Amino acid sequence: MELLDRLTELKQILNQASYEYYVLDHPTMEDFEYDRLMEELIKIENEHPELKTADSPTNKIGGVVLDKFEKVVHTSKMMSLSDAFNFEELKDFDRRVKKDAPNATYCCELKIDGLSVSLRYEEGLLVLAATRGNGEIGENITNNVKTIKSIPLAIKEHKTLEVRGEIFMPKKSFHALNEERALNEEDLFANCRNAAAGSIRQLDSKIAAKRNLDAFLYYLLDDTSDTQVHALEHMKNLGFKVNPYYKKCNTIEEVIEYINAMGELRPTLPYDIDGIVLKVDEKVLYSTIGETVKYPKWAIAYKFPPEEVKTKLLSITYQVGRSGVITPVANFKPVFVQGSLISKATLHNEDYILSKDIHINDTIIIRKAGDVIPEVVKPIKEERDQTVLPFQMIKECPCCHSQLVRREQEADYFCLNPNCSEKLMNRLIHFASKPAYNIDSLGDKLTIQLYEAGFIRDIADIFRLKDHYEELIQLQGLGKKSIDHLLEMIENSKQNNLNQLIFGLGIKHCGAKISTIICKRFKTMNEIMTATFEELAAINDIGEAIAYEVVEYMRQPKNIQLIKQLNELGLNMEYHMDQIQENFFTNKKCVLTGTLESMGRSEAKKLIESFGGNLSESVSSKTDILILGVNPGSKYDKAKKLGIYIMEESEFLQKIKE
Ligand code: NAD
Repeated sequence: MELLDRLTELKQILNQASYEYYVLDHPTMEDFEYDRLMEELIKIENEHPELKTADSPTNKIGGVVLDKFEKVVHTSKMMSLSDAFNFEELKDFDRRVKKDAPNATYCCELKIDGLSVSLRYEEGLLVLAATRGNGEIGENITNNVKTIKSIPLAIKEHKTLEVRGEIFMPKKSFHALNEERALNEEDLFANCRNAAAGSIRQLDSKIAAKRNLDAFLYYLLDDTSDTQVHALEHMKNLGFKVNPYYKKCNTIEEVIEYINAMGELRPTLPYDIDGIVLKVDEKVLYSTIGETVKYPKWAIAYKFPPEEVKTKLLSITYQVGRSGVITPVANFKPVFVQGSLISKATLHNEDYILSKDIHINDTIIIRKAGDVIPEVVKPIKEERDQTVLPFQMIKECPCCHSQLVRREQEADYFCLNPNCSEKLMNRLIHFASKPAYNIDSLGDKLTIQLYEAGFIRDIADIFRLKDHYEELIQLQGLGKKSIDHLLEMIENSKQNNLNQLIFGLGIKHCGAKISTIICKRFKTMNEIMTATFEELAAINDIGEAIAYEVVEYMRQPKNIQLIKQLNELGLNMEYHMDQIQENFFTNKKCVLTGTLESMGRSEAKKLIESFGGNLSESVSSKTDILILGVNPGSKYDKAKKLGIYIMEESEFLQKIKE
């Protein structure tokens, strides 16, 4: 390929990846791969400076600034850091520094894998928080940042200052969030960084508050401390959370020791780090050493290589999900990856395995995607011997042996047998689980035991268990007391809210959130069963795919029969709103333009929602009310054109009180 073509291609790939990473918070490329391509681009540009253009990603810091937030011009540029991927590159950096500043020493810090934030305090009070954005202009995320418990709303001294650091999501919160998203059938976040970025850019600070974000601060602007170590100590004294693992190192050899030690500590930390940051400790040297347009020359980020481990793929087995979806799973010789012993990883589907060209008995490379979920990176083809067997997708269900089906445009195979045991068992497990119908004491193991003993075949059977009392107490390992408790819990659960039942039924695409949205609109099981595709698809947040699945489920005789039985068994079939006080805003679709003087946008949203209304982003013919703040935008003109009711702030406040 011509050099110029490669250059254009690299710029295009990197710009697209940056967009997905920074703007959509949904990367499609591994960081390591991104960094490798960036290095290639830098190399070409260094060798051919005449080919470097202003729009090159090598000039850019971060992503674009989203319109949905107010823009903030940074008082001084928020820079990125140059990278080192091995110790040689780190030593080169040291040589460059020492040329200008022979006596420099270093302050080493953990490189927290989150997103940078700038905080402004006036008279000791937090008044502004902004993302890095493109380095010069960021997004105003003050309301969301105020929900982070470790960021002080007021500091000890009544000072005006600006401090910068990293917002991150602890690993535990990341796991919990992804589990919840899986239940809601929402896309999972690839790693802690993207989860943190996606959370901080929520317009509704209630959502950000629930995400348990945290922050470490590492840079105080206009600070008079002589060294970075003293600056960190000063920040601590002011009441900021500073990461405790910083260390002063006198030589690059000491830095390397520190990196090795932190590499070992990494899996035990409750948050993700992707490297260490090395900063010249003596601040007086910064101006001598200087900076480029993108990063300071007195600091560098050493990035940990992703920990990849070799092992042997022993077999591929298959799981049957509650929808009948077949998921291939790689079973390999157990290996330690970042501190935990793993022996399995999902292989997603047939296409995934074929695209990676994975054979059974291959030597494979394993790593933890986003440092959390085990993933098969690739097979090592050079190490293949005659024992390997090419992969072939099964054609029959591993449980009931019925023919599997792969529909057009779908990557997954399905078992369509309605009586497949594994599918039925997984449906029952899902129904009784905490996020769904939440039948306390009916856990996975007991559900399987009751299924295998022939007591429960479908959901209705759970509510008929009481008819088998005598037989149940004979079951191995149970006994009278636990059966009494189980039956009591089952009886109590019948009063559960309708959204739990809808979710528990396991309708495709109907996660916990969607089930609640449907119940809020239709209120009773009867109404949901008779809702048309058009009515369902007209609900905000419900697309045609969901509407189709709900209608499809509700028209099948066996499902109608099941719901009829559940009704006869006494399960609640009505949706109880969580104590919504009705008023003028109940069921109204509102839009806000401009700024309200009495409250922030998120507060107005909370108030409207507390009355069962909705505050959305854009004006459409479905909007009922436009709330008019100071400096209204184009939404005002659009609302006038569409003849939408326009309400001034005073009227809004009046109506809220009524
Ligand atoms: P960076 O991650 O290489 O490092 C700079 C950032 O580190 C700073 O801005 C700061 O936010 C952070 N940091 C954490 N701890 C710190 C500390 N103690 N002191 C100072 N800074 C600290 O740079 P970046 O510009 O944020 O991101 C570029 C990186 O993002 C790339 O190297 C790549 O790995 C990743 N990326 C990936 C994709 C993708 O598609 N996967 C796309 C774009 C960028």
